[in-house]
Amino acid sequence: MKFIIATNNAKKLVELERILKPLGIEAVSAGEAGVVLDEVDETGTTFLENAFIKANAAFEKTGMPAVADDSGICVDALDGRPGIFSARYCPELCKTDEDRTRRILEEMKDVPEGKRGAHYTCAICCILPDGRKIEIEETCEGTIGHEFIGTGGFGYDPIFWQGDKTFAQLTAEEKDKVSHRGKALRKLQAALTSHFNQDGE
Ligand code: IMP
Repeated sequence: MKFIIATNNAKKLVELERILKPLGIEAVSAGEAGVVLDEVDETGTTFLENAFIKANAAFEKTGMPAVADDSGICVDALDGRPGIFSARYCPELCKTDEDRTRRILEEMKDVPEGKRGAHYTCAICCILPDGRKIEIEETCEGTIGHEFIGTGGFGYDPIFWQGDKTFAQLTAEEKDKVSHRGKALRKLQAALTSHFNQDGE
């Protein structure tokens, strides 16, 4: 069985391939499925709503079961910003992930230790062949540092601390074990396993 992965992000596709393969599911991109998925407006007000909008657009266009995710970072001292706008925070001033990360450091410059909490969230929506949905949301707690540390990961990882390291100092495997996305993907794997076992497929 093939599932279409509603993302243009090659890294997300690889992660989902790894999770779905043991279940006998082939993860395919829009290109591999021979369709063009138009950019959808992420008009939801939550991560889960936006994940559903992306998955449903792919399901409706192709008729194939579909998976999409939506993720971001929520900073306590910034009232949860950038949240669902993490990939498009402050677009008038910020063009890149690095610009957006610097912007957060700037906005946080007077926030004392003890008030620098933040969490990443990852929401996944999977639309099954019969149109039923699996929805998952996982978070990962940490704190915001004062400068860029580490060269791994992506996005806000160089300023996101857990324990004595930033996420940009972890290997991919170390990050997978504790990250919002790693946790959500493991839950998706468990949910799909139980779904297909129950249906005897
Ligand atoms: P999405 O592709 O709409 O889900 O965009 C999520 C955005 O949230 C990314 O562009 C990053 O800025 C941020 N983000 C989500 N997960 C992570 C992560 O694991 N590390 C760093 N940044 C992340």
